[in-house]
Amino acid sequence: MNVFSVLSDPDNPISLSESSYHKATQRAHPYVQIRDGETKCYALCPSCKNPVHLRNRIVKNTVAKTLYAAHVAFSVAGLAEYSQERYQICPLANPQRLDRAGGKKHPGAVAADLKRFFLENADLVIDFLEKRIGLALPDYARENMLKDFGANRAFEYAGVTKYNLPLAFAYLTEAQAMTGFEIMKNQQGLAAAITGKCQDFEVTSRGVRQYISRKKTGEVPTSRSSKLYLSFHDHEISKEQPEKQTVTMVVNETPDPKMPDVYREIYRQSISLDGVLFLRTCLRRARLLSMAKAHIG
Ligand SMILES: [Zn+2]
Repeated sequence: MNVFSVLSDPDNPISLSESSYHKATQRAHPYVQIRDGETKCYALCPSCKNPVHLRNRIVKNTVAKTLYAAHVAFSVAGLAEYSQERYQICPLANPQRLDRAGGKKHPGAVAADLKRFFLENADLVIDFLEKRIGLALPDYARENMLKDFGANRAFEYAGVTKYNLPLAFAYLTEAQAMTGFEIMKNQQGLAAAITGKCQDFEVTSRGVRQYISRKKTGEVPTSRSSKLYLSFHDHEISKEQPEKQTVTMVVNETPDPKMPDVYREIYRQSISLDGVLFLRTCLRRARLLSMAKAHIG
């Protein structure tokens, strides 16, 4: 993994690089210690708070070395006591793919903590998702997705973590009809695909904003029952960086929603999320709110 934390703020994930490690630890004891006759660099895992060891990985076909952090199964004096129990449920040590069909489940206390975290950060979850997919979701779609996410008992899935909530939220909801969705400026690929390939849908402009709407023949909307569906598939976790994950966004035009297996693919894009940035943003907001309460409330 490419993330670590330090004793003064063990929950706050820091993206790992030579300079961020140096700045955060001063390369001083207890982060740097001699073990088995060798100088070793340690830090904390921001998720399970177990010690991690910094290593260099040789990147294939190049001479460049990449720094990464790996969990160790022993205590590091002055830094952290090793806990096997916490290690086993750590999403950075044992990342799980999101799996609609079931898969591993979180222990109850972890699921309850995730649910609390989601409720405190629902706006940031949706904001991160919208920016990554380049679509602004109208309130009705947000509400449908929240309903689906709750009905799927999403917080119990071992694949759902504080690092991937925006993608998990997309993945563990059902197909959404896209009429009325706003297309952001960074999503012109989808706008072009709708214009070029859709039979019943088009992109319309209101001022500088662009929306997905149903085509009209004169004043009459075409084929009223057809749907343009947005859905998410194929959750992938990078082996080297479990904090960075992707899902595939798919947009299909479905002539008859009673027969959703008949459709035409309009657009497909891999959507990636930097989980460290997401989690740091949530924690930063929590710090601001608590400062505001302390000084003003
Ligand atoms: Zn961990």
